[in-house]
Amino acid sequence: MKKIIYVLSILIVLILLTSCSISTGKSYKADGFALGTIITQEVYGRDARQVSVEAMDKLKFLEDLMTINDLDSDSSKLSMNAGKGYVELNPETISVLKSARKISDLSDGAAFDITVAPVVKAWGIGTDNPQIPSEETLKKLVPLINYQDVQIDEASNKASLAKPGQMIDLGGIAKGYAGDVLREIYQKNGIKSGLINLGGNVIAVGSKPDGSPWSIGIQNPRSETGGIVGIIQVSDKAVVTSGDYQRYFEKDGKRYCHIIDPHTGYPADSGLMSVTIITSSSTDADGLAKAFVLGLDKGMDLVKKYNQSYSPADAIFITTDKKIFVTPGLHDNFKLEDESHEYTCIKKG
Ligand code: ADP
Ligand code: MG
Repeated sequence: MKKIIYVLSILIVLILLTSCSISTGKSYKADGFALGTIITQEVYGRDARQVSVEAMDKLKFLEDLMTINDLDSDSSKLSMNAGKGYVELNPETISVLKSARKISDLSDGAAFDITVAPVVKAWGIGTDNPQIPSEETLKKLVPLINYQDVQIDEASNKASLAKPGQMIDLGGIAKGYAGDVLREIYQKNGIKSGLINLGGNVIAVGSKPDGSPWSIGIQNPRSETGGIVGIIQVSDKAVVTSGDYQRYFEKDGKRYCHIIDPHTGYPADSGLMSVTIITSSSTDADGLAKAFVLGLDKGMDLVKKYNQSYSPADAIFITTDKKIFVTPGLHDNFKLEDESHEYTCIKKG
């Protein structure tokens, strides 16, 4: 009898301990590298570690599909068959191509366009040999840019590029898509609370374990040390930034960033240092962040158009003269926390 009471009391203590660790938010933090960037995950709940491993495996799988650095990837397959008809691709790649099309359509290809690839390659920004291509080279390559030449046959998971020489680069949307896929993995496994950071693409899954929103820092585009200019509070949202500070090179005192204006073939130079989009879909946020090409007013119009056509989105535009413009949904949310004391915040209507 004594023995049974002893075993029972141990069992009760164990049950109490387990339920305790769940309710106070059992957490697991994981770091990794995929899609050319540092990945961090903060996962709360049962099986947190296992879920983070599943997420990391999925990232590697998506990287293999989307990379332009591997001849066997779906991106390469499509590019190598440009002008030669349809090729079969993984349904996930088809899904990214569809989302890319949707975001390109919003600006008629003036901002986000995955067919900028030949021009991206000619500049080589972010590689060991960046260069300013000749006018002649750009004259030849810019006419190849046209998102409408990516034809998708969803029923058979096939796609094609219309003209020989065309190529695609999913570098401006693949991380966004991966964010949505990871959130789905979390949710499928019952994770209600988590924070995913894919090299600056942040996905807040649910709220913090205590029910309060996540605090997300908005980077100071000119801080050498990763300093921030402000903080926003979000739950269940993607917060995605494109800027001129992530990858760029300088020549004769001029900065050439890695985001290309599809109309000119030159790196975007429209008076902005960064654009942050806050919305539910991380894929769409990544694509929309290329509003960076359009500058403040037209860029803000694009965000409004997305709001009207799809779902609520907010944005933070930081101009080269260090003004931070925030959309109405952030007027009471964005908190200026500028360690450099150089920025001002302007509430945009
Ligand atoms: P990252 O998050 O990797 O720092 P971004 O999300 O800002 O980069 O996307 C920039 C990348 O997207 C470039 O490196 C290039 O591969 C691709 N890209 C450049 N210009 C465009 C554009 N106008 N539309 C779509 N993709 C682009
Ligand atoms: Mg990005």
